[in-house]
Amino acid sequence: MNALQTVPREASTVPADPVLLPTARPSLEARQLPLSAPSIGAAEEAAVLEVLRSGRLSLGPKLLEFEKAFAAHVGRKHAIAVSSGTAGLHLCVRALGIGPGDEVITTPFSFIASSNCLLYEGAVPIFADIDPVTLCIEPSRVEALITPRTKAILAVDVFGHPADWDALEKLADRYQLALLGDCCEALGSQYYSKRHEGWRMAGSLGDAAVFAFYPNKQITTGEGGMIVTDSPQIAASCYAMRNQGRMQMSGWLDHYTLGYNYRLGELSCALGLVQLSRVQEIMRSRERVAELYLRALSDIPGLTLPMPRADSRVSWFVFVVRLSERYSAEQRDEVMADLQAQGVGCANYFPTIHLSAYYRKRFGYRPGDYPISEFVSDRTIALPFYGGMTASDVRYVSDALRRALARVGAPATMAC
Ligand SMILES: *Cc1c(COP(=O)(O)O)cnc(C)c1O
Repeated sequence: MNALQTVPREASTVPADPVLLPTARPSLEARQLPLSAPSIGAAEEAAVLEVLRSGRLSLGPKLLEFEKAFAAHVGRKHAIAVSSGTAGLHLCVRALGIGPGDEVITTPFSFIASSNCLLYEGAVPIFADIDPVTLCIEPSRVEALITPRTKAILAVDVFGHPADWDALEKLADRYQLALLGDCCEALGSQYYSKRHEGWRMAGSLGDAAVFAFYPNKQITTGEGGMIVTDSPQIAASCYAMRNQGRMQMSGWLDHYTLGYNYRLGELSCALGLVQLSRVQEIMRSRERVAELYLRALSDIPGLTLPMPRADSRVSWFVFVVRLSERYSAEQRDEVMADLQAQGVGCANYFPTIHLSAYYRKRFGYRPGDYPISEFVSDRTIALPFYGGMTASDVRYVSDALRRALARVGAPATMAC
């Protein structure tokens, strides 16, 4: 049972996240497939119950165990659990000394938290457009944007596809910039680094990186996140800031620095530990669904399917397809509405950050500012994607997509 199902609708003032609507099971005619669903089993239930019965609900053994296991999984010296990916990004920005007026070069094609974390500290996001294949920041566009005020590069492994970390590291070294990774969508992905002569886990490059455990991510703790770093300074600073500015070994009321309450509770850590122990199995089940999709959709003309590059091994986060340039954003929205009417959960991952109402108002961004991101963003559709999908679910979605495309009006070259 998923958490949302246990909340009576009337009692909640929070609208249910359409991404996480509960899975209804098939009748072939009227299937309801959510965009995403967590993989939670008996082991997770038992682990959470055990903590609940122990009476130790925060800052206990599960926190330390989860951090240790996570650091080992990514191959980093330190891991600091926090209450969300966004909280983790915020602490990294502070720990890297990024402050008012500092410029940080980042991508406009991401979940908005990867840019908002800069605004929290008065820093200025400077957007660089993306590589149209990986959909990650294009390093060759970064260099021209570097000024004396540039403090850092914040790269995102979009949809689990690793950014070009070798090129980003070279730039960071040459210009003495901090390098921060938003790996919230990339737990388990790997990148072949020529610089480091081998495969590297997502999150193992740069000064620090952040993961997230919202229920649509590869593994979940309900809400939660994790900072990873090899730097003892960044780690100490993040440990202190997450817990009201307390140093790790100091007394409860000694506050050395401006702190927050970004702690992750024991129930969440216990859940995360079990999820992490199952990560290979979870990744395999998601990869199987991705392969089913790739096969089922390969013959739709003009549809761009997600393709991991040869230098990456992708841990699948979402399955995002892209309509051809002959479709407008409005037609894409019609296709999505048609899919939804057929019971197929979908989303327009991502609307670009610079064209969100807030960024337009605050920074004056306009359509055309980042053309590649906008082109992609106008045409992408995230389809239902989770390890529990059956081959028949995937077939249902692919048939629904064909019907939707046919109804919305096929572009000239499409043979429908
Ligand atoms: C999920 C996500 C985050 C952070 O998410 P939280 O909901 O705060 O845990 C940040 N960046 C990206 C790219 C994400 O996908």
